[in-house]
Amino acid sequence: LIAVNNVKKYYLGGEVKALDGVNLEINKGEVVVIIGPSGSGKSTMLRSLNLLEVPTDGHIVFDGEDLTNPKLNINKHRQKMGMVFQHFNLFPNMTILRNLTIAPMKLLKKSQADAEAKALELLDAVGLRDRADAYPSQLSGGQKQRVAIVRALCMEPEVMLFDEPTSALDPEMVGEVLQVMKELANKGMTMVIVTHEMGFAKEVATRVIFMDEGKILEQGTPDDIFNHPKDQRLVEFLSKVL
Ligand code: ATP
Ligand code: MG
Repeated sequence: LIAVNNVKKYYLGGEVKALDGVNLEINKGEVVVIIGPSGSGKSTMLRSLNLLEVPTDGHIVFDGEDLTNPKLNINKHRQKMGMVFQHFNLFPNMTILRNLTIAPMKLLKKSQADAEAKALELLDAVGLRDRADAYPSQLSGGQKQRVAIVRALCMEPEVMLFDEPTSALDPEMVGEVLQVMKELANKGMTMVIVTHEMGFAKEVATRVIFMDEGKILEQGTPDDIFNHPKDQRLVEFLSKVL
């Protein structure tokens, strides 16, 4: 579904190598969890997948199209990748329902009735149907993040990208968001997730990728990575986070 071919992302004229030759293939239905120390390039990797970061070198191929081709209409392809960040970025002056229907109406040209029906169905699935007419400020952090996930799903994406979706939440709200992500994974959604939640990675990932200094140093099943790590830096990283 997505192929990352020798992608590099340099900052400050090459002084900072945020990505230093990354190769990766993501297949339909995979749940790929990216782990690694702060500054290792995880966010840059994720943001490169939908070209929020334009690689200095290399190619990202999605659905057979080279996204790094400057002639491509990137917005059309970006719509097929839902993204959820640490901060939810809901529109504060719009109801939850309006937050969920605005993009499908504008970009997918859905009718208001169709967009609302889909939004309510998805809200129901995350237990928030009764909050459709509330405003974001009236919701808890965990509820807002569940809405942010629903907002991405309303665009009917082929893949969902998550960058530390639970790190800004109070601890008691982490579980409800991870639960929604787990259900999404069980339904077969292709997902790429940067997280520090190692328990979630062990339970839900089909593949875990360890990054350090802009490189993928090791990848494998959760059992490979957590129970039989080979790379010395992965061993050190795990000793700090587990
Ligand atoms: P964290 O776990 O802290 O979120 P990360 O693994 O997501 O870290 P990135 O945000 O991808 O790391 O950053 C990788 C490297 O690139 C870091 O050294 C960072 O300082 C650098 N970097 C990222 N964005 C920029 C930028 N706009 N300008 C300069 N350097 C940057
Ligand atoms: Mg990051």
